[in-house]
Amino acid sequence: MSVPSEQTAAVPGLPGDAEVTSTQLWTKRYGQALMNTFGTPQRVLVRGEGCYVWDADGRRYLDLLGGLAVNSLGHAHPLLVSTVTAQLATLGHVSNFFASAPQVALAERLLELIDAPTPGKVFFTNSGTEANEAAFKIARRTGRTKIVAAEGAFHGRTMGALAMTGKPAIREPFEPLPPGVVHVPYGDADALRAAVDDETAAVVLEPIQGEAGVRPSPPGYLAAAREITARHGALLIIDEVQTGIGRTGQWFAHTSERITPDVLTVAKGLGGGIPIGACLGFGAAADLLGPGSHGTTFGGNPVSAAAGLAVLHAIERDDLLAGVREVGRHLATGIGELGHPMVQDVRGSGLLLAFTLAAPVAPQLASGALDAGFIVNPVAPDAVRLAPPLILTRQQADEFLGALPVLLDTVKEMR
Ligand SMILES: *Cc1c(COP(=O)(O)O)cnc(C)c1O
Repeated sequence: MSVPSEQTAAVPGLPGDAEVTSTQLWTKRYGQALMNTFGTPQRVLVRGEGCYVWDADGRRYLDLLGGLAVNSLGHAHPLLVSTVTAQLATLGHVSNFFASAPQVALAERLLELIDAPTPGKVFFTNSGTEANEAAFKIARRTGRTKIVAAEGAFHGRTMGALAMTGKPAIREPFEPLPPGVVHVPYGDADALRAAVDDETAAVVLEPIQGEAGVRPSPPGYLAAAREITARHGALLIIDEVQTGIGRTGQWFAHTSERITPDVLTVAKGLGGGIPIGACLGFGAAADLLGPGSHGTTFGGNPVSAAAGLAVLHAIERDDLLAGVREVGRHLATGIGELGHPMVQDVRGSGLLLAFTLAAPVAPQLASGALDAGFIVNPVAPDAVRLAPPLILTRQQADEFLGALPVLLDTVKEMR
């Protein structure tokens, strides 16, 4: 779809604005106008198509981060563009005093994909952290207040989700947070067993800890968590904000352990770039929030729900899950087979991968990759994360594999 530059050229900053041609200029204006929560942006991006984006200076990049595991269908995907455009031109927003067909259809579709043995219900949000806030409130509605979370976990930046987040550095400056949350070592079923008791409202876990550096849970861990929570009448909340919606080559990562959580949260990849999240409850947890107990103005908005439907449809129609498994394996194997002394380990699943380095030079590697036309993410000082669009091809993976040895050589000399 072409950029409607004639209509938007008169609006400053929109496509067609002749001034959007210099990264330097817009970075300076960014620094003056935006709160400094993210540091200095590395580039100003103006356009995307498929797995590529272009910056304000006209340079092209292979996007191996996908808007942080968000752009499932890449950039400017024809189905997503036409769906969102058609929905916005028909009905863009109604409050939650009214229902809309996309919202209902998306809830039904998500529940179908999970195929839980007990009936489920959905609460839509605009982000991952809000999906986890809803989960937190569901946990409180059990009448218990204790929540067991994992060290290293990331569940979001709002106060409830932050309380569950297991990174003291980002939590402590904002204390006191909602009380009752304890953290146990991730992946340790015995530690979980020791922490959960009959006072526990919920256990919250990610199948793979994304922000902690793409750390997969050991086999059997989620199944143990399911058994432990069931025994104590506690809820099992699975946070698939990053791992869900096909990212690992399955619709949801937790299904590899053949469990059904009580509560499941998703967001990032669901809207393909349009903000939407969801909190799904199953069995008794589906009905713990009643009239007046929770709400949202934008959540489940027709445009974002339509985007979610388009994303799910394209994943299924184009058999993207098989592609994610195939290209993900190719990429992971390819990095390992380079046999480069700087690469220690490749971990993750599908197209959520990280490779670890022999020295804490991931930021330097990411910066060199950017100069060479690749967007990757230094998720930890010694780990580089890849979370490309689910449409990434083998050839595109090979572009990166071809460039990686030189990038690794360069950081090797920096040690
Ligand atoms: C990104 C993320 C969140 C927070 O999502 P936002 O949309 O940034 O609020 C929560 N949980 C996990 C596992 C995430 O990766």
